[in-house]
Amino acid sequence: MTTKNNGLMDTIVGFAKRRGFVFPSSDIYGGFAAVYDFGPYGTELAKNIREAWWRAMVQEHDNIVGLDSSIFMHPKIWEASGHVGGFSDPLSECKNCHTRVRVDHLLEDAGVFADEKMSEAEINALLTEHADKIVCPQCGKSDFAEAKNFNLLVKSNLGNFTGEWDAEPTYLRGETCQGIYVNYKNVLDTTRMKVPFGIAQIGKAFRNEITARQFIFRKREFEQMEMQFFVHPDEAQDTYEQWRAKRWQYYLDLGIKEENLQWHEHENLVFYASAAWDIEYRFPFGFKELEGVHARGDYDLSQHMKHSGAKLLYRDPKTNESFVPHIVETSVGVDRTFLAVLTDAYTEEQLDDGKSRVVLKLPKALAPVKIAVFPLLKNKPELVEKARDIFDTLKKTYMCEFDDNGNVGKRYRRQDEIGTPYCVTVDFETIESGVVTVRDRDTMEQVSVPEGELSDFFAQNL
Ligand code: ATP
Repeated sequence: MTTKNNGLMDTIVGFAKRRGFVFPSSDIYGGFAAVYDFGPYGTELAKNIREAWWRAMVQEHDNIVGLDSSIFMHPKIWEASGHVGGFSDPLSECKNCHTRVRVDHLLEDAGVFADEKMSEAEINALLTEHADKIVCPQCGKSDFAEAKNFNLLVKSNLGNFTGEWDAEPTYLRGETCQGIYVNYKNVLDTTRMKVPFGIAQIGKAFRNEITARQFIFRKREFEQMEMQFFVHPDEAQDTYEQWRAKRWQYYLDLGIKEENLQWHEHENLVFYASAAWDIEYRFPFGFKELEGVHARGDYDLSQHMKHSGAKLLYRDPKTNESFVPHIVETSVGVDRTFLAVLTDAYTEEQLDDGKSRVVLKLPKALAPVKIAVFPLLKNKPELVEKARDIFDTLKKTYMCEFDDNGNVGKRYRRQDEIGTPYCVTVDFETIESGVVTVRDRDTMEQVSVPEGELSDFFAQNL
């Protein structure tokens, strides 16, 4: 990890574990590098992120449909896509402490332009030229072995009963979009979609990432939200610009602060791409890729036509023209969105009474819990019963939490920390006059709302 703001990163990692957002995988065994689990609140946040993306991409577009393809696919798919031959990152080892590093990233950190698409020879030339600037993140020495391209595909023995591990390997998918390309014709044949149209998918992907030092930013098992849009070649450029604008707006609508976002244009385009920009977020370790928006030409469908023999040409029903559609893709990780959203929302606030609080200023739609319901005192059955009644009603519509532990001030702090927008407290006035107290997470203001109007209040405010 580049350590521009290690303090904030450490705080977020600690917070994410302490409040049940993210746990290291296999924690009681000492963890498992670059693999993480979402805890109870993390699961809710990740679900809300997926829902927000699905709504923006599928629900709100009548020309985009969803797909859920398998993690395992025919091994030839990964040959056609170029992953077997070329899906690699330049790996080198520190001669002093044997830490494995991604050379292109270390070069970038040292201000030297490099990326994973460069050949071994190019990367090694840069490594030699800038040897003194390339520092091991573990031991601080500058002494690296020659870089080798390391293939990132994760192999398995699925369907292989030979007992030899490496014979006929199948792969865990390295990206979800291949499942979209190979189902393109199925979707066309079974729906009323016509070019231009898109296919969207959310699912797990696996990569043998070399470095494992960036929390959930770079996982070996992660989740992608990808949309592939199929267009006439003449419309590819305009469509690309439209998607760039839409995807930027999506993050603003999601509630991400605009000053924490920027565009980054790829300097080294793959040969088939006509344009590639990333939306970067200001993570605690600097601006890094959150999402890729790429114009991929006809490469993907052409490759699959060549390798499978299937005809993936599109015949326009109006003009009768046959062509291989061009593809514009938008590709983002659930995990990177999660880290961006958490970083954006995490706030330590000084209060007027001299105390401080941690508050997660999450957009309401993403908050794991929308409403917490408290009885003022846990030893007053009439308060507890009334609070339970309200909780039982609200939970049918919203993710709610019931809390009667400790004093109300502590309960507010607990809810602030997980980003709950509203807390409802039932006190003696509720029993007497049917009015509850609703407290706002951000302003901390409290208003009285008649119990019978709670549903309307939350319908308006959530
Ligand atoms: P990077 O350059 O950071 O390795 P990439 O260019 O290889 O990323 P893509 O292949 O374009 O990433 O994948 C699309 C999206 O999937 C990324 O923008 C990111 O949000 C997500 N993603 C990719 N790799 C990982 C990973 N190892 N862990 C978490 N998310 C990932």
